[in-house]
Amino acid sequence: MTERTIFHRILDGEIPAEKVYEDDEVLVFKDIHPKAPTHLLFIPKKEFVPSIADLTEETLHVPAMLIYKAKQLADRHGIDGYQLRFHVGHSGGQEVFYLHLHFLSQQSLEEEES
Ligand code: 5GP
Repeated sequence: MTERTIFHRILDGEIPAEKVYEDDEVLVFKDIHPKAPTHLLFIPKKEFVPSIADLTEETLHVPAMLIYKAKQLADRHGIDGYQLRFHVGHSGGQEVFYLHLHFLSQQSLEEEES
């Protein structure tokens, strides 16, 4: 019933991605077409929600978790300025219907690692 998206395939290791971080709840990888020096995508591992437009009371914690993981990653790398974006629906620019958070920063992730 559920359509498998490209992000399902990345999560299952069927398609390679430049992974930056992973834990029980989230996978973070580099966007294949970066719009900023650092452009990461955060996807939930445990729960599949196609889009913000599909959120319910049962799944409203998922975007909050993604935002918190982004904040933690920024803190770890000393990135103090960034943008967090959800594209919602075709007319909102959403191409992949697997809920994901865009993390964009003019600061380089690599430069912040030590
Ligand atoms: P959306 O517009 O759906 O919010 O964003 C989807 C993002 O996924 C786009 O920025 C696009 O560049 C990225 N993307 C699409 N396919 C792949 C892929 O196979 N690998 C990676 N790393 N990113 C992808």
